[in-house]
Formats: sequence, C-alpha cells, structure tokens
Amino acid sequence: MKKISEATIEKLLAEARDARRFSYAPYSHLHIGAAVLGKNRAIFKGCNIENMSYGVTMCAERVAIFNAISSGVPEIEALAISCEGEELCYPCGACRQVISEFSKNALIIIGADGGKYVTESIEELLPRGFSSQKLKSPKDC
Ligand code: ZN
Repeated sequence: MKKISEATIEKLLAEARDARRFSYAPYSHLHIGAAVLGKNRAIFKGCNIENMSYGVTMCAERVAIFNAISSGVPEIEALAISCEGEELCYPCGACRQVISEFSKNALIIIGADGGKYVTESIEELLPRGFSSQKLKSPKDC
C-alpha cells in the first residue's frame, strides 16, 4: 500500500468533500465525492451521478478514476471518498473491481463528516478479486 503523507490525505479528503457539491442524487439523496491522486501527482475529482433508470447510475469513485484515465493518467496512487454523514461509506463491488484494474497498491481513504477516516488497500477491500491473469491469451483459444 502506498505511503501518503497526512497532509496529502487531508488534501484528498477535502477535494473529495468539495466534489460532493456537484453530486446528482435526486433518488438516494446521498451525496458522495471522490478524489484520485494520479501517479503524476495531479488530483482528479468525481461525484455520484444518478439516473432515473437506476442501473446506469455512476459512483463517485468511478467518475474520479475515469476522469484521471481520460486525462491520460491511467495509474492511481490514492483514492479518497467522502460521504455525507458520520458513517463511513465504503466503495461498492463494481468500484472495487475498477480500482483493482488501475492500481494494485493505491491507498484508499474513506472519510466521513466530522473528520473520521480509515485507510485500506485494494487487497483488503477485494480479496481474491478477479484478475486479468485468468483471461486466455489469443494463442490459447
Ligand atoms: Zn461504486
């Protein structure tokens, strides 16, 4: 798991909290923000974006990660998540799989209002997750 300074963790949590301003959550009313620290040290933000056909809703974590990737930064060093309220809001299974695709050792920071936060690794959040190593190469087909 990446070592990140306390100042950087606080900065990422503040950016994730700020990203909640743009959350579109008319159905759940749960506003979530995320901030990715890219390998180039730039910060990419995202918020949850819901849809009336719930299945196409996108989580804040994936919006932030896809923002980094679409900006040319395909490897993440850290991901901070900020959820409204004092309960920690862990990433869903789909986001955990996406995190594992773009970082094998990112520091994942899960924060709540009031200053509480925990740090996790993707191995802790997605033990024995699906790996591309299980895919057959074209010569095996
Ligand atoms: Zn998710």
